[in-house]
Amino acid sequence: MNLPSKLMEHAVQEFAKMPGIGKKTALRLVLYLLKQNNESVQQFTAAINNLKEGIHFCSNCFNISDEIICSICSNPARDHTIVCVVESIRDLIAIETTNQYRAEYHILGGVISPIEGVDPDQLQIASLIKKLNTGNIKEVIMALNPTIEGDTTVFYITKKITDQNIKITTIARGISFGGELEYTDEITLARSLATRLPYEKYLQRNEE
Ligand SMILES: [Zn+2]
Repeated sequence: MNLPSKLMEHAVQEFAKMPGIGKKTALRLVLYLLKQNNESVQQFTAAINNLKEGIHFCSNCFNISDEIICSICSNPARDHTIVCVVESIRDLIAIETTNQYRAEYHILGGVISPIEGVDPDQLQIASLIKKLNTGNIKEVIMALNPTIEGDTTVFYITKKITDQNIKITTIARGISFGGELEYTDEITLARSLATRLPYEKYLQRNEE
């Protein structure tokens, strides 16, 4: 792409680094910004700067938060004896959008994957196990993507739970095997949460 300005080229390159943005779209965004007044562009750049500098990860669930503890973990109206384990913040957002779940989360930051070199130490698994073994949790809902890696991760975590009283459940497989939570429609996702199964039943069903 031959552009008349080095500054413009640089800006286009930066936009084109973002997911789903090709060079042409990047150029359209840059041209759009150029048409805006200085104040709007400053608001835009300030939002990005503040995002990176001001945002924290909740020390309890690893959700994105403006405070040390996120708005979900600090909400007294939520049930803090149930933990829903998800892979990413996008999955948390997907479940929150259903308005069906009123308890806590725990974001792993990925799943165990020997092929991609992701082992348990790189994920928030130790912090989850610690939380589950405090005796304060009644139920843990495994809401990982239905993939081999997701299943491996659930298996690994459940083997480390020493508190015998915790109910371990998985979300129902309304979602196709190999699919992704993030792209599932709200109804399927809400139903999957409502009809979650005890992990033992899920294992039996897979063996049938
Ligand atoms: Zn939190």
